[in-house]
Amino acid sequence: MNSYDSELVRSILVKAKYALVPSEDEADVVLLNTCAIREHAHQKVYNRVHEIHQKRRSGHKDTTSQGHKPLIGILGCMATNLRTELLGNRRLDIDFIAGPDSYKRLPALIRECLGDEGRGTRDERRKIFDVTLSEFETYSDVYPRRERGVNAWLAVMRGCNNFCTFCVVPYTRGRERSRSVENVVEETRQLAADGFKQVTLLGQNVNSYHCEDRDFADLLEAVSGVEGIERVRFTSPHPKDFPDKLLEVVARNPKVCKHIHLPLQSGSNRILGLMDRTYTREEFTALADKIRRLIPGVALSTDVIVGFCTETDAEFEETLAVLRAVNFDSAFTFKYSERKGTIAGRKFKDDVPEAIKTERIVRLNELQKEISLKKNRAHIGKTHEILLENKGSKHSPEVLYGRADGNHLVTLDGGGWALGESVKVRVIDASPNVLKGVAIS
Ligand code: SF4
Repeated sequence: MNSYDSELVRSILVKAKYALVPSEDEADVVLLNTCAIREHAHQKVYNRVHEIHQKRRSGHKDTTSQGHKPLIGILGCMATNLRTELLGNRRLDIDFIAGPDSYKRLPALIRECLGDEGRGTRDERRKIFDVTLSEFETYSDVYPRRERGVNAWLAVMRGCNNFCTFCVVPYTRGRERSRSVENVVEETRQLAADGFKQVTLLGQNVNSYHCEDRDFADLLEAVSGVEGIERVRFTSPHPKDFPDKLLEVVARNPKVCKHIHLPLQSGSNRILGLMDRTYTREEFTALADKIRRLIPGVALSTDVIVGFCTETDAEFEETLAVLRAVNFDSAFTFKYSERKGTIAGRKFKDDVPEAIKTERIVRLNELQKEISLKKNRAHIGKTHEILLENKGSKHSPEVLYGRADGNHLVTLDGGGWALGESVKVRVIDASPNVLKGVAIS
């Protein structure tokens, strides 16, 4: 979502007659688009701001038109969530802050920073901010400025109404709002005209999309009807929003990829209750079974948090048991870290020691690695159609990377194929994260 938002910001600024430069060393304005999901991301932003100033102070190439340090703006979820901390931190030399719903105001915020007569006329100690959350902003009238490529991100809804207790998104991105089907289809047509082959529909709770009487299943059908678009993917869904109608569209529509991300978070019913995820372990596994029944060959991936407040060893074992039972193709795993302003942050104690969280995530990753390897090995000898998305690695500039329908990463050695082409491959080897293929067409 942040990559997509950065593309929106580029578009808004170029329309306001700003030019993009290839490196921050040449920029008059540097924007850092931030995430508030994990603590590490915060630290990264603080370090980047210091690094930018440090470089300029130490006489690194300074080609700014004013010959001054650049204006630095913080965008994204961290801007909303840590506004007070960012504004009050005298050692953090930033000029302005804009939340995810304020990007159309960026040209005005920059002008305000520069002052009426140019840079330096305002009181530089006064930081400028706009972190207002909107009930309506979907940026449906902004066509993001994307790099040319194979896959395009396309946000179809913004915000979230779920308030999972560990999550900061409803506070930093506000309530759910969706774009119209017609508007999303129009943008998809433009993407096809620009040469994109795949579109990934985005939303914080993407399958809760609805606009007037149209739901996410209707949207998937409409988007996949766009000529020139070969594949449609979506992320990130919530398990509570998978009606049969949606699963039937995924099963029946050849352009909709047979991959579903199904975030589990925990296999313990008590912890799921504390997280307010609104499903039990039994309901989750029944849904996974139903998905596999209705969509033969579907790949499933998940998200898991270990060490949530008060999680016991036995409850962690229940998470491992669900992983074994569902056999996910892959998993994104996280150690719980308290986020300021969340329900968990206010009501529960982050009391699982760091060493235990580390021990648990290591065990979880080991188990998932075993499962992924076994599942990937089962592809050896099978044929997949892969869409080539990338080229070159440290070891081989000729290696090509594509994705199978189920989102498995497949490598292919050379062969004169171009990015964006679909190639039929036979899988000849597999590791936990990658399949190796040879072209048969
Ligand atoms: S559904 Fe996702 S984005 Fe929404 S509150 Fe829960 S974890 Fe956060």
